[in-house]
Amino acid sequence: MTEQYDVIVVGGSVSGAPTAAWLARKGFRVLVVEKATFPRDANSTHFIWPRGMSYLNRLGVADRILEETPHFKQMEINIEGIRLHGGVPIQAIRDRFVALHGDDHGVVDYYAGPRRFFLDQVLLEEAQASGAEVRQATRVESLIEEDGAVVGIRAVPADGAAFEARARVVIGADGRMSQFATQVNAQKTAVREKSTFAYYGYFSGIDKPELCIHKRGRFGTAIFPTMEDRHLVLVYGPTEWWGDFSKDPETSFFKTYEFVAPDVAELVKQGERVEPFKAMGRMVAFHRENWGNGWALVGDACSFKDQWTAMGITHALRDAELLSTHLAMYLNGDKDWDTTMSDYSAVRFSDYEDYWNLVCDGAEMHPYTREELEFFHGIEGDQDKVDQFIGQVGDTISLKHQIQPESRDQQELPDFIREFDSEALAYHQNAFVE
Ligand SMILES: Cc1cc2nc3c(=O)[nH]c(=O)nc-3n(C[C@H](O)[C@H](O)[C@H](O)COP(=O)(O)OP(=O)(O)OC[C@H]3O[C@@H](n4cnc5c(N)ncnc54)[C@H](O)[C@@H]3O)c2cc1C
Repeated sequence: MTEQYDVIVVGGSVSGAPTAAWLARKGFRVLVVEKATFPRDANSTHFIWPRGMSYLNRLGVADRILEETPHFKQMEINIEGIRLHGGVPIQAIRDRFVALHGDDHGVVDYYAGPRRFFLDQVLLEEAQASGAEVRQATRVESLIEEDGAVVGIRAVPADGAAFEARARVVIGADGRMSQFATQVNAQKTAVREKSTFAYYGYFSGIDKPELCIHKRGRFGTAIFPTMEDRHLVLVYGPTEWWGDFSKDPETSFFKTYEFVAPDVAELVKQGERVEPFKAMGRMVAFHRENWGNGWALVGDACSFKDQWTAMGITHALRDAELLSTHLAMYLNGDKDWDTTMSDYSAVRFSDYEDYWNLVCDGAEMHPYTREELEFFHGIEGDQDKVDQFIGQVGDTISLKHQIQPESRDQQELPDFIREFDSEALAYHQNAFVE
C-alpha cells in the first residue's frame, strides 16, 4: 500500500532536515528520505555566521553543537594588511530576523564551525525527534507526477524493496546537483560561471581562537577552530588558476598561504595536518525556479553560490524556516498553493538578490582597488563601522546601507595605499605555471 504524508522531503542535510523538523513540529506528517547513512562528511567547509547560529538556536540545537565545537564572537577580515576586527552587531541580527521572520526569538551573536559529519547528524536527529519519519540509506529514484503535479516519490532503500510514498507537497533538498530539479524541469533563471577554487585541510596544534580571513591580490585564505582541537585551514583563488595550482596542490597551498598571510602560514606550518586535503575546483553559481505544482526546492537545489563568504548553510537554514512557515498556511487551508508559494518565493528572493550578486562578483577574485583600500583604511579605526562591514559580509546588514568612511587627506594615507596598484603584474600572473 502506498503511504500518504503531508510533506515528503528529499535529502536530509542542512536544508532538508530543518525543513522537516519545523513542519513536523507544526503537526504535519513528514517523511525525510536521505540516500546516505549519517554520520557522513561533506565536501564543504563549515563556518557558520551568527545569523546561521541563530537559526540553529531557534531550532534548539545550538547548545548541542557548542558542546563539541568552539565558538567565538569576533573575527578578522584582513585586506592587503588592513585589519578589520569585530563582530556582527546583535541588534542588526535581531532586526534582520524581525524583518524576515516576524520575531527575534533565539538570536545569538556568536560564530562556530561544526564539522559536517556532526552538524548534519544533529539536524537529522532533530527532525526525527520533532516527529518526522526519517529513512536513511534510501535513494529517491523518481517523482510521481499526475495531471501536471508532483504527488509523490519512488525510492529504493540500500537493503530493501523499492517503495512509493505520496504527499500533498514534495520538497527537493537534494543539493546543487539536484536530480529533483532536473525531473521537475526547474529552469535556471541566473547563472554565474566564474568562481573560486577551494583547497583545505585540518590541522592540530594551532592556537588561533577566531576566524581569520586574509585577502591579497587574487587569493584568499581562512582559518577557524573546529571540533577535536583542530583548525580548518583554507586557501582559495580564481578557478582559472586551479589547473596549475592542482598540479602540486600541497606545495601550492603553502606557497599561497605565505604570500597572502605569512604570520598565519607560520602557525600552520608549526601545526600538524591530521586529515587528507579536500578540494573543489569550480563552483558555478545559479538560481532556479523554486516551486511548481506540488513541489518546492530549498537550499542548494534552489540556488547555489560560491564558497568564499561561507553562507550556504545559513541560507539553507533560512530557507527551511521560511518555507515551513509559508507551507503551514497552505497545509492548514489558510491560503491556496499559488499564493503561498509566490509569497514565499518573493520574500526569499528579496532577502537574497543583493547578497547573491556580492558573492558572484567577489568570486571572480579581482584584487581590491586602491579606492576600496582607501575605504577599508577609512573605517579601520572605527569599531562601529568595522562591525557594520562585517555585518554586511555576514549577510545581516543590508548591502544598500552606505558605510561612510572617515575622509582623509591623500597625504595622510600610508605609502602602501598611495602607491597601491591593483593591476600590478604580481597579482595577475598565475604563480603556479611552470
Ligand atoms: C567547497 C565548499 C565550501 C563551503 N563552505 C561553506 C561554509 O564554510 N559555510 C557555509 O555556510 N556553507 C558553505 N558551503 C555551502 C554549503 O556546503 C551548502 O550551501 C549546503 O551544504 C547546502 O545544503 P543542502 O541541504 O541544500 O544540500 P547538501 O548539503 O548538498 O545536501 C543534499 C542531501 O541530499 C541527499 N540526496 C541527494 N540526492 C538524493 C536522492 N536522490 N535521494 C535521497 N537523498 C538524496 C544527499 O545525500 C545530501 O545529504 C560550501 C560549499 C562548498 C562547495
